[in-house]
Amino acid sequence: MRDRAAATAVGCTRPEVTRRVKGYLVRELGISSIDCVALPDAGQSVRATDPLVQRRIREHIRRASLERGAGVIAVVAHAACDASPGTPDEQIDQLCEAAEQIGGWGLGMETMGLWVDESGAVDRLA
Ligand SMILES: [Zn+2]
Repeated sequence: MRDRAAATAVGCTRPEVTRRVKGYLVRELGISSIDCVALPDAGQSVRATDPLVQRRIREHIRRASLERGAGVIAVVAHAACDASPGTPDEQIDQLCEAAEQIGGWGLGMETMGLWVDESGAVDRLA
């Protein structure tokens, strides 16, 4: 059974970013159990047109969440990410598209896009 109190975070796993995202999920959504799927530059990767890449990402997320019964997927991107060459605006666009795309995979989970800005503030954009 899906557990609304458990989440899977997908994105860059820079420790400071992960710490901020975990803080946000605990504070705003009362989520107590969070695991992370490392997918640097999640926005670009999820949008990759290569179906093999897409399938690998989807399987990765599906397994990670099924194993723990997580009810929430948080796609994460942050400012000044080494893995993403885009401008913040481009990164944010990609983040929103990625969250929308993952939400369309029928995993039965609430999907959101979280942006961590230069100051470490977390915003839910999708
Ligand atoms: Zn990063």
